[in-house]
Amino acid sequence: MRVAVLSDIHGNLEALEAVLSECDAQGADRVLCLGDVVGYGADPSACIKIVRSRAELTVAGNHDQAAAGLIDTHNFNDVAAEAIDWTQDRLSARETKYLATLPLTHETDGALFVHGSPHEPGAFHYIFGASEAAEAMAACDDALVFVGHSHRAFVYGVSEQDEVAWGEGAAETGEGRYLVNVGSVGQPRDGDPRAAFALWDTETGTTTLVRVEYDILRAQDKIREQGLPAFLASRLTAGE
Ligand code: ZN
Repeated sequence: MRVAVLSDIHGNLEALEAVLSECDAQGADRVLCLGDVVGYGADPSACIKIVRSRAELTVAGNHDQAAAGLIDTHNFNDVAAEAIDWTQDRLSARETKYLATLPLTHETDGALFVHGSPHEPGAFHYIFGASEAAEAMAACDDALVFVGHSHRAFVYGVSEQDEVAWGEGAAETGEGRYLVNVGSVGQPRDGDPRAAFALWDTETGTTTLVRVEYDILRAQDKIREQGLPAFLASRLTAGE
């Protein structure tokens, strides 16, 4: 079984479509989403529609909860808060309700799926690298944990006490305990502007971090046309 794990789409339709095409090309049987479907990008409703039809389960991200009015934006920076306001004005009542009802965690096939961290999932702690990953794995007993939220793709092995893989490539995640940060579909921040996701092969026990080119210029044009903060467009060029 090949499970595609997507996170942090952030209303970037061009990136989402490119990732789902790659999922099809690589023979993904199932799609799971780690949240932040909306916020920042120009196509929140289109992304919700596609995720609802393609992902068998989506857990809640902090931007999803903020857009749904479950949490306020006092912890958000100015551009993030402005994008949430913009997004709220464009969501239908049905879309808002959908975001409000997403669960914080999900477990299937021996793996845990959470947007921020298994430690206090509703607090949305960030996992940037090895030290936060170690804390997160100490807070649960799952063998395999998939997270997003920090927009940086890497695989961390508990026994190795270090990251085992940054960027693209396959990592053994079948023996021992691993945390996989799948990165961000719609707004990568690890210096690689290509859309990120992970492909977990439950039979071989490997997880591959995948990067996909997408039409960044079109996504940027739409952000500017909608009057969203220009920084949300410009940062996509460098993926930072
Ligand atoms: Zn995010």
